[in-house]
Amino acid sequence: MHTVQNSQRAFEHQALPSYLQADSLGPWGNYLQQVDRVIPYLGSLARWVDTLKRPKRILVVDVPIELDNGSIAHFEGYRVQHNLSRGPGKGGIRFHQDVTLSEVMALSAWMSVKNAAVNVPYGGAKGGIRVDPKKLSRGELERLTRRYTSEIGLLIGPSKDIPAPDVNTNGQIMAWMMDTYSMNVGATTTGVVTGKPLDLGGSLGRVEATGRGVYTVGVAAAHNLGLSLNGARVAVQGFGNVGSTAAKLFEQAGAKIVSVQDHTGTICNDLGVDVDRLLQHVERYGGVRNFSESEALNDADFWGVSCDILIPAALENQITKDNAGRIKAKLVIEGANGPTTTEADDILRDNGVLVLPDVIANAGGVTVSYFEWVQDFSSFFWSEDEINSRLVKIMQDAFEAIWQVAVEYKVTLRTATFIVACKRILKAREMRGLYP
Ligand code: NAD
Repeated sequence: MHTVQNSQRAFEHQALPSYLQADSLGPWGNYLQQVDRVIPYLGSLARWVDTLKRPKRILVVDVPIELDNGSIAHFEGYRVQHNLSRGPGKGGIRFHQDVTLSEVMALSAWMSVKNAAVNVPYGGAKGGIRVDPKKLSRGELERLTRRYTSEIGLLIGPSKDIPAPDVNTNGQIMAWMMDTYSMNVGATTTGVVTGKPLDLGGSLGRVEATGRGVYTVGVAAAHNLGLSLNGARVAVQGFGNVGSTAAKLFEQAGAKIVSVQDHTGTICNDLGVDVDRLLQHVERYGGVRNFSESEALNDADFWGVSCDILIPAALENQITKDNAGRIKAKLVIEGANGPTTTEADDILRDNGVLVLPDVIANAGGVTVSYFEWVQDFSSFFWSEDEINSRLVKIMQDAFEAIWQVAVEYKVTLRTATFIVACKRILKAREMRGLYP
């Protein structure tokens, strides 16, 4: 019989391929550090942990479109399926000029963790195009979306991988994706994407779901901290779908939104801005800058604003070792994905700031996406009250379970969420076994 010498078996400890190696400053490096922190708590499942460090599939596509002036432009697009052990891939599509493969890999991995944390039956995936969509006409944006959808058509499908909106994508883009996929397969397939308009099999409550989830777990965490929302000072970075909805709900609960930052600038008002009027201003002028009922603030000073609750709801790597020490909030609720670097996380922990991590805090969006997908399959639609009450229950239950784990193991809420989620993913991985 052929025997293999131990010296020949170095592949058991193979280094990660270069494109998977941690770039310590990037989101993927941040994610790998988060996984490393959870290994001591995984018990016998730790032997499967490399599964979490390697996306299952990566698709990089060229997306050529004809511009309105007749020239041809090429954009780089991605769809990454990080892990499919617990179900089909699920995760948003981002259109942004800074999108990179490493960023999409990290976002797909956080989707695996998030979906497992709230126990919806999905794996993790994410996609994106490296483009500034604000520079495209509506026609160009539609052509870009449709070509990209065709290019990633190999991977997506209602039981394979289901995209949703993310930064700079919305219900209209989901409608174009759904239509393109449906034309390609020859059958209207509403369940291929979520976050669709209501007239196309979308779900009530989906647009506000992520912000509502941020608010729901924020209320639970504030309660555990003994922090009253009435009069609480809240600062929000990012005033798009997630940030503005969360701000509105905190305002309705009696909190004051004392500072808001977006890509156009930073504003503050010690008495609290009126969220509806700020929304109207953003709708009209494209950003929060020059909102009349506020003062302008230097962007860097946003992080030192006197507040009780800070909600990063824009992009990754915003809270870093350079600004974490300035944060005065008692509670940080991560509406954005990956807003805090690992070094900054440690600074916040040492300063007694409670961080509600992205992988639980912003899981409301995918939870209602799950409801949308279920409704599409059954062609039976629920009331908004039913959706919101189911969402709140899932978020509260997930938060309580994670809080208990954090107390039991004396770890941060981020590590606690990773413990719960990674165990679920790796347990599924182990039970399925390796095939062939
Ligand atoms: P959006 O496009 O609606 O809004 C993004 C906001 O971020 C805008 O206000 C924009 O001005 C601001 N922004 C962009 N660059 C900025 C910068 N450099 N500095 C300050 N602000 C900046 O996007 P969204 O859907 O609200 O997503 C925001 C975050 O929430 C992202 O990290 C996204 O991955 C995450 N998220 C979104 C959902 C969802 O359902 N939409 C779900 C989970 C997580």
